[in-house]
Formats: sequence, C-alpha cells, structure tokens
Amino acid sequence: MAKIGLCCWAHFCPGKGSYKWCQILFLEKRLLGNDAQQEKKGNLGNGGGLWKRNLNGKGRVTKLKKQVIIVGGGAAGMLAALTARHHGAAVTLLERNPRVGKKILVTGNGRCNFTNINADYQCFQGGNPEFAKHALAVFGSEATMAFFAKLGVVPKVEEEGKVYPWSDQASSVLDLLRYELDDCGVDVVVDAFVQRIEKVGDGFRVELADGAFFTGDRLILAPGGKAKPSTGSDGNGYDLARSLGHTITPLYPGLVQLKLDGSFFPQVQGVKIKGTVALLDGTEFLGREQGDIIFGNYGLSGPPVFQLSTLVGPLLQAGRTPILQLTMIDQMSRAELTELLRDRFRQAPGKALAFSLVGFINKRLIPVVLKAAGFSDLKQPVGELTSAETERLVEILTNWRMVVRGTKSWPSAQVTVGGVLTGEINPETMESMLVPGLFFAGEIIDLTGRCGGFNLQWAWSSGYLAGKKAATLD
Ligand SMILES: Cc1cc2nc3c(=O)[nH]c(=O)nc-3n(C[C@H](O)[C@H](O)[C@H](O)COP(=O)(O)OP(=O)(O)OC[C@H]3O[C@@H](n4cnc5c(N)ncnc54)[C@H](O)[C@@H]3O)c2cc1C
Repeated sequence: MAKIGLCCWAHFCPGKGSYKWCQILFLEKRLLGNDAQQEKKGNLGNGGGLWKRNLNGKGRVTKLKKQVIIVGGGAAGMLAALTARHHGAAVTLLERNPRVGKKILVTGNGRCNFTNINADYQCFQGGNPEFAKHALAVFGSEATMAFFAKLGVVPKVEEEGKVYPWSDQASSVLDLLRYELDDCGVDVVVDAFVQRIEKVGDGFRVELADGAFFTGDRLILAPGGKAKPSTGSDGNGYDLARSLGHTITPLYPGLVQLKLDGSFFPQVQGVKIKGTVALLDGTEFLGREQGDIIFGNYGLSGPPVFQLSTLVGPLLQAGRTPILQLTMIDQMSRAELTELLRDRFRQAPGKALAFSLVGFINKRLIPVVLKAAGFSDLKQPVGELTSAETERLVEILTNWRMVVRGTKSWPSAQVTVGGVLTGEINPETMESMLVPGLFFAGEIIDLTGRCGGFNLQWAWSSGYLAGKKAATLD
C-alpha cells in the first residue's frame, strides 16, 4: 500500500515540493474519485505505474515493459529517466533536493557548457578511459545537440568546440528538461533521500531516509560524485554502490585550484595572465595546458590549472612531489625573449630593474618575479645587468617551477576523480556486471572528463545507455 501511494504521489506534483504534501493530495483525489491528474499523465493509478497509456496512441492502454527507478535527479538521472520513458518504461526519479538539476544551474559559469563537439574517449581519464568509447559513439555530442534541440535548446559552438545554449542560461536547459520530464510522464519525487537499496528477487527495493520505500524491476544509480556537495552530490552514492557489492576507486577533487608553495601568493591574488602550465613528476612531463591563469592567495587557478589538477590527487597519494611549471611568456622562444629584454635594457640603461619591466609584465607580478629569480636589489639600473642575470630573468619567465602541495577541497571542485570501478560495469549498457538489473550513470563512474563540456557529455551519454537498456532489458 505504501508503494502504491508513493508511486502515485509524483504524478500529482512532479517537482512541486514535499512528496508528503503530494500524498495528502493523492488521498484527497482518491476520496473524491477524481482521476483527472492521473489521466493527464496517462497513468491509470493502479499503484506503481505498471499500466500506462501508450505514449503515441492516445487512450490506448498498454502494459509497460519495465518499472525503472532512478536515484539522483542530476544530468545523468534526468537523461536516463527521459530515455527510459521514451522507450516505454514506467519511470520514477528520486531526488533528495526540493528540485531536480541543482548542479546544472552552476555549470559553465551559469551558461551550461553542455557538450563539446570534440568529445572523444581520449578527453577522459580514469582506470580505463576507453570505457567511454561506446557510449560516446552511440550518444555523443551530435546526438546530444539533436536531443536538446528537440527540447528547444538552440546550440551555440564556441572556442575549443564548447557548446552552450543560445540563451546563455543554464536555467533554460534545466527548465526544458523539467518540462519534458513532466510532459512525458516521469514520476519525479523530490525531497526523497535514498538511504538503502536492496536486491529483492529480480527487482529492487529502495528505501528513503524517512522509511518510505519503492520497488522496481530495474535500478539506475545516478547520484553524482562528491564535488560541490551543496548541490546534493556529497558522496553518499558511493556507499549505495558499495552496499550492492561494487568497488570504489580512490576519490580526489578534480577540475579544482592547485595549492602551491610560495609565500608571495597573497600579494598577487587576483592577477590574471595568459600563459602555459605543465605538471611534472620528477623530470617527466605529465601534461601541458595553455590559457587564462589566475593567481590566488593559495596558488593558481584557471582552466589550464584545472585540467592538470585531475592528475594531482593520485600523485600525492602515491607519495610523489608534483611540480608545476609556469611559462608566463609563452608567445615567443627563449632566444626571442632574451633579445627583447636585452633591447629593452639597452634602450633605457638607467631604468631601475623593476621599472624596466613595466608595460611588459603585470605590475603586481614584477617584484614577485624578480625575487623568485633571485634579485635582491630591484632598483639596480638595468644597464649594469650581466648576461647571466638577464638569463635568470628569462628562466623565471619561461620556466618558473613551484612545488604542488595539494588541491582545494570538494566544495571548490567541479568533478570527482575516481568512482565505481569501470571493470565492474558493461560499457555497452552501463549495467552492473555484479548485480543484474542495476545500472550506473554519470559522475559516480570512475571516469573524469576535461574541462569544456565533457563531463556533462558523459552524464548524457551514460544516462542514455542506462535508460535505454533498463527500459528494454528482458
Ligand atoms: C561549478 C561547476 C561547474 C561545472 N561546469 C560544467 C560545464 O560547464 N560543463 C560540463 O560538462 N561539466 C561541468 N561540471 C561538471 C558537471 O556538472 C557534472 O559532472 C555533472 O553534473 C554530473 O552529473 P550527475 O548527474 O552524474 O551528477 P549530479 O549532477 O551531481 O546529480 C546527482 C543528483 O543526485 C542527487 N542525489 C545524491 N544522492 C542522492 C540520494 N541518496 N538520494 C536521492 N538523490 C540523491 C543529488 O542531489 C543530485 O541532484 C561542473 C561542475 C561544477 C561543480
């Protein structure tokens, strides 16, 4: 009986707040014998939504293939829900927040960089990046743009293949997803924190924190990772996966600021430059990225730093001392830079060393750079500089090395590095290899994309596969 009531609550008020409020409404409707709300969604109210109107044939009643329960109303969960529903399943989407899709609102600085036309498995890291190959082939950036275009999102391709909605509003993407969930009859149950999942026979029993429960034939686990926990994905999903027998690889904050050695950082907080950063383990270069680099009071941030940050957690865990190389002047060769500085010094030999760089280097960085290059007298006339001293300056501007002490923590991170071991998931369906009928989608899986629309693409791609297979599995 609890199941019947619960499964119908969401039909009455998807996304409208507490399901307890919905339950009252449900009971009232039953007492009045008014099934209009259920009719709107095509649900005949048999409790559990096993019988629904055919999506195309108005009025025709057909037995649905599967009852799919989805844990987590984020990007992956919503895409999985829509796909499963479009493939004819009865779908219940459980979200702990009062509304679905909270994280989508903060993506792309509020603009939602929802895919990248260059999405490819090589843009991912994890135990086995090739795990993403099939999902991206089936539902890659083109399919994603087509899917969202049908919802009403006009795609706009920007630099490096990043795709945004023409509206430049993440909220518009979420509005259209929510409209579609409602329109196609997904049961969205909010304020529903899933606390326990049990495999019962061929199906699943899902229990909420308040003791209410749901049962279904298939279960898709899409509760996100640990990054930005204020959005609802606080890592509890890993415990749910573990409780079902799955292995979780070590977890680290990713696409996040790097904490670096250097007492000067507070002095230059907020300075932004264009340059190149590289990450080294000993003498080995692990990655190199170019773009806007921002100085913080702890170290560095900005897209190129974020890209490299996903490599840092595992290195530190292994007891390594990663080094960040900053190339502030990356638009000319070392020889050209040496010549430029020598010319500059020859033209105004009486200028103080620090002043001689004004107009070339950000003024706030000049004293810091000179100190890092080992100069103590910043007023020294540049005409007196030796070749070796000019070389020291060239070296710091092209090869400034700093020890990486760590990353900022989960509230600052955009993604999680690590997750459910991909070796335990079928890459063609996202179904668990350990628990038949259990599927995974999104960030909970050990796969991390680069900055630039790849992580949402993974959420859509894996959500699509999971939703489709969960709806159609025999
Ligand atoms: C600031 C920021 C900016 C970003 N910008 C971009 C970008 O522009 N482009 C890009 O590609 N990626 C971006 N990302 C990354 C991207 O948002 C995520 O990788 C993606 O949203 C993951 O989707 P998901 O559905 O797996 O998880 P989530 O979006 O985290 O959704 C999981 C949902 O599950 C719910 N949940 C968790 N546990 C439970 C439970 N026990 N019971 C019920 N519900 C539960 C959560 O409340 C949440 O709503 C950004 C991330 C951040 C933090």
